[in-house]
Amino acid sequence: MRRAVLSVAMLLSLVLFVLLYGTLSGEGAASSKTDRNDPVMNPLNENKTASHPSGTPFKVVIDPGHGGKDRGATGASGNFEKEFTLQLARKVEELAKQEPRIQVYMTRTDDRFISSVDRERPKFANDLDADLFISIHGNTYEDPGVSGTETYYYHKNSLSLADIMQRQVVQASGFRDRGAKKQDYFVLKDTDMPAVLIETGYATNPQEEKAMLTEEVQSRIAASILEGIKEYLKLK
Ligand SMILES: [Zn+2]
Repeated sequence: MRRAVLSVAMLLSLVLFVLLYGTLSGEGAASSKTDRNDPVMNPLNENKTASHPSGTPFKVVIDPGHGGKDRGATGASGNFEKEFTLQLARKVEELAKQEPRIQVYMTRTDDRFISSVDRERPKFANDLDADLFISIHGNTYEDPGVSGTETYYYHKNSLSLADIMQRQVVQASGFRDRGAKKQDYFVLKDTDMPAVLIETGYATNPQEEKAMLTEEVQSRIAASILEGIKEYLKLK
């Protein structure tokens, strides 16, 4: 009988030890790893995957940069950035129709001017309570030799989305990887959900612009943006 009591006591202390040790080492592990991809460490990064009601589609805002009198960059060939961004965004929208769990909302579907003074783009996404915001652009620089893809984010909760997008788009475009970078663009700053701005390539670089204006490269980049969305939302 005494032996049994002893074993129970030993068992209890073992359980207690495991519990205690688990808590302590759990904390240690949490503080030693980076918090950039950890939704628990970063409450803003409720990327809604876990809490999202199954079956309802994720709302993804695709924002073709510029429009109307805001032509954006003028490429090496004289093409305007606003046209490229709309062409690419439309391809993403089209491809996403095959994904029942993704509903794309476009900030513009034609050559419409969208006021940046009124912060229309982030407001559109916030009013919609969107899950993701993705702005599409083409880059520009005085030196035509400069080339490559870069993805911008502002809030910390957007960094993992930026990393994913950057990797996906570079893989698809074959352009130089200029990395994911923090920048205080208002479309990234004023949006309540994870948001990125993709500078797909340099329109001022003749070779890169030429590629960016082909159907083939646009389709590849559009597919990679959709892949990035799926990867981030854990839909694959
Ligand atoms: Zn732009």
